[in-house]
Amino acid sequence: LKDFSVENEPILSYRKDSPERKALQEALKATASNCEEIPIVIGGKEFKTSDVRHQVMPHDHAHKLAQFYYADKKLLQQAIKTAVETQPKWDRVPLAERLNIWEKAADLMATKYRQELNSATMLGQSKTVIQAEIDAAAELIDFIRLNAYFLKEVSKYRPISEDIKVTKNSMRYRGIDGFIAAVSPFNFTAIGGNLSYTPALMGNAVLWKPSDTAMLSNWRIFNIMREAGVPDGVVNFVPADGPVFGDTITASPHLAGINFTGSVPTFNRLWKQVGNNIDNYINFPRLIGECGGKNFHFVHKSADVQSVVTSTIRSAFEYCGQKCSACSRMYVPESLWPEIKAGLQCEAEKLKIGDVQDISSFTSAVIDDKAFKRITSYIEHAKKSPNLEIIAGGTYSDSKGYFVNPTIVVSKDPKDRIMVEEIFGPVLTIYVYKEADLAETMKLVHTSTKFALTGAIFGQDENWVQTALEEFKWAAGNFYINDKSTGSVVGQQPFGGGRMSGTNDKAGGPHYILRWTSPQSIKETF
Ligand code: GLU
Repeated sequence: LKDFSVENEPILSYRKDSPERKALQEALKATASNCEEIPIVIGGKEFKTSDVRHQVMPHDHAHKLAQFYYADKKLLQQAIKTAVETQPKWDRVPLAERLNIWEKAADLMATKYRQELNSATMLGQSKTVIQAEIDAAAELIDFIRLNAYFLKEVSKYRPISEDIKVTKNSMRYRGIDGFIAAVSPFNFTAIGGNLSYTPALMGNAVLWKPSDTAMLSNWRIFNIMREAGVPDGVVNFVPADGPVFGDTITASPHLAGINFTGSVPTFNRLWKQVGNNIDNYINFPRLIGECGGKNFHFVHKSADVQSVVTSTIRSAFEYCGQKCSACSRMYVPESLWPEIKAGLQCEAEKLKIGDVQDISSFTSAVIDDKAFKRITSYIEHAKKSPNLEIIAGGTYSDSKGYFVNPTIVVSKDPKDRIMVEEIFGPVLTIYVYKEADLAETMKLVHTSTKFALTGAIFGQDENWVQTALEEFKWAAGNFYINDKSTGSVVGQQPFGGGRMSGTNDKAGGPHYILRWTSPQSIKETF
């Protein structure tokens, strides 16, 4: 394999008068002025059905951004047939050639189509420019580009050949015969690209069901990959109703794997369906999932208060707390509470919530009506419960867009449902602990929820940091010391959690690509 770049894509500044700012503004205008028509694509052929859907702008829900169609069961079965027929042909395309296509796609994403991706992410998923740039530009490009580096790392393993004059042992990495179903979320455009195109790179054929609320940005990825040279049928673009999709793929004997990011109940349902059909499959399907969290910031009395405040505000409220990694519960020692409380209230008040096109907005709307109702039900619970006190925010409105103001709730009960259930929105809950209860409170962090995605600890006392590393060993798949719980970088902090947060296959690292191969050991005797 030739040497591909192993550097992360730099983030652009979008300063006033910068060329990227100008290009972005033009792209936003073009994207907003058109309700783009998005077909189903199977084996390169386009289809439309009578089940018409729309993607709206969450911050302006009267504005339709895209029109798409749900694939029915028949079309999904056709997509499965196409993928199964394409897989062995595609797997025979040499890896170096496949990597060239991916490199070309990453270059197109970094240059020609960067602002198309950013504008679709900003308008369709209500991300501010910086949040779009770190996702639909940098992280997406990193996912696509750094796979070459991961492949190099993985192929460093060479089976031992005791006497190469007599035998040569080798390993070839094959795709899995059958098809992979990629089910991607709304919250990161980049995850859509990773879930579908990483298995494809490794020699698999894919049915990609994008999220309804990230349709336009995901459609743009699909087209860039086509332009770069991914052949027809390797990835099939099939928007669909969730249960119809799940029922159809799990009923096929050719299901080779599911690459999923979404909720625990949906992932559980897929596991059960696979279990029920287990006698019918050709391969044991690989089930890879990332399912959310109830991520914590734990503060020790030795912590630096300013860094706690800044990190927590960013982690809890950037992109309205809709990152799987967002901090949603915090534990603070009594001695630091007055200062931390004042800091959080002051920062939360300053946050500007508004239109994504206004570059000074810190966040915008939450993704849809369902999210709005779920999040605000927790705020209403906080208003009613005597154990809970709202110390910032607590207001919301869905008249124009789905706006929820960053809300901070202090809980006297560390097991109140607001402190243990995933809210997936801009609601931060805090428990103030007595210093005498430090050990007990630390234990509570990882025994009070089923999740273990991300967690952060803040403290300058090295001894305590070591204790915390032990206590929180299984509390998080991505663990941060004196830094916020969000913002993992591809290749730097491979991402994933354990327990009910997922199968912890570490997206953005070498372990992940191995999940999409079925290696063959070859012994050749001379
Ligand atoms: N990798 C992202 C982060 O560390 C989160 C990904 C997700 O929301 O699934 O912030």
